[in-house]
Amino acid sequence: MNVYDGERMAELLGAKGLTAVADNEDADLVVLNTCHIREKAAEKAYSDIGRLKREDGSRPMIALAGCVAQAEGAEAKARSAMIDIVVGPQAYHRLPEMLVEAGHGKRPVDTDMPAISKFDTLPARRKVGPSAFLTVQEGCDKFCTYCVVPYTRGAEVSRPYADIEAEAHSLVEGGAREITLLGQNVNAWEGACGGLDGLIRALARIDGLERIRYTTSHPADMSDALIAAHGDVDKLMPYLHLPVQSGSDRILAAMNRSHSVDSYLRTIEKARAARPDIAISGDFIVGFPGESHEDFTQTLSIVDAVGYASAYSFKYSARPGTPAAMMEGAVEPQVMDERLQQLQERIATHSLAFNRSCVGRDTSILIDRKGRAPGQMIGKSPWLQSVHVETDAPIGAMLDVTLTTVRRLRPASCDDRGSSRRKHRRTRQPGNDRRRARRGCPRPRRALRSL
Ligand code: SAH
Ligand code: SF4
Repeated sequence: MNVYDGERMAELLGAKGLTAVADNEDADLVVLNTCHIREKAAEKAYSDIGRLKREDGSRPMIALAGCVAQAEGAEAKARSAMIDIVVGPQAYHRLPEMLVEAGHGKRPVDTDMPAISKFDTLPARRKVGPSAFLTVQEGCDKFCTYCVVPYTRGAEVSRPYADIEAEAHSLVEGGAREITLLGQNVNAWEGACGGLDGLIRALARIDGLERIRYTTSHPADMSDALIAAHGDVDKLMPYLHLPVQSGSDRILAAMNRSHSVDSYLRTIEKARAARPDIAISGDFIVGFPGESHEDFTQTLSIVDAVGYASAYSFKYSARPGTPAAMMEGAVEPQVMDERLQQLQERIATHSLAFNRSCVGRDTSILIDRKGRAPGQMIGKSPWLQSVHVETDAPIGAMLDVTLTTVRRLRPASCDDRGSSRRKHRRTRQPGNDRRRARRGCPRPRRALRSL
């Protein structure tokens, strides 16, 4: 969602005559779109701000946007004198006016959650890549005890169907062939066409839109109708991201998750009955207050029971103002580290097994970027795997392929998605190809890289 918000802010500022630059050194304005979900993500925002100071002592104008801005408001300005503008995720349509105010030496703050949706005042979508995001729902009413989202993103709001349809049309006209519908709790969407299943069925009628995905869903809102859509809407991809967080009912209750291990497993069973090849992904938190060795063992068991194609896992991070931050039974950092590593290794085993099970499948990929090697392109399979292929087909092409090789498996070894991506990039540097060449391994022709 932050990627989506970032794109919309860039479009908004673009409409006012600002153009994006590749290097911070050349920027007159830097907007940091921040995440508050874990402490590490929030801290990163402040260290990034410090790095914006230039050698000659100058700096760009700095806007702190996103959920750190929402959570800290005016306090953010006290924490860093370099911040000129503080704007929350529901107020960023006001950025252009705030820039003018900042130009007059003020340090404006807007963390309102206005009744009028920001979407109504944003410019229409312009040219986009083959795969685009579209926010359909924001906020959350679930109040899981560890989570800041209900406080930083506000109450659950569904965007009206007509607005979503119009945005989907302009995305397709701008080049998108795949749309991922976004929401903190996307399967709670409701509107003129019923629930999320109705929205997916309606959007599937758009010519030129080939693939639909959605994320993130809450297990308690996974309706039978939505599961049925996986069975009969061809454009809906066979992929379900359904966070479970823990495999222990005791911990799930303490988390206020409003689902049990059993109800979660039943949902997965139904999804597989509707779409047997569906890839299941999830989110996990290790080290929630009071998590015992037995609770953690149950988390490993649910990983085995589901057989995830991929999953994100995090160390519990106490967030100020959330009920869990006041709970007793803090888990030692070293124990958290060990549990995270064990969990990630277990997930990686299943991920590899899933990817191996795909070898030999005839399928199509949507090419979304160039690979590093000459003539190599990278596309996404229906199961969201990155597939490397040698082809002269351009970005945006749908290509029929046979999945052949699982290239490598990297157990994720860190506790947030950002650093996991950084590690991921490192492993993809040309040095790897050189090392492989030294070992006499050919670069695979069509390879399915494990997630
Ligand atoms: N709405 C989604 C998740 C949104 S937050 C859902 O309910 O599943 C994305 C993920 O961040 C969560 O699934 C959870 O695994 C993780 N997360 C949220 N708060 C956290 C915290 N305080 N500490 C560690 N991980 C957290
Ligand atoms: Fe946070 Fe998701 Fe729980 Fe909402 S449902 S409170 S977004 S973890």
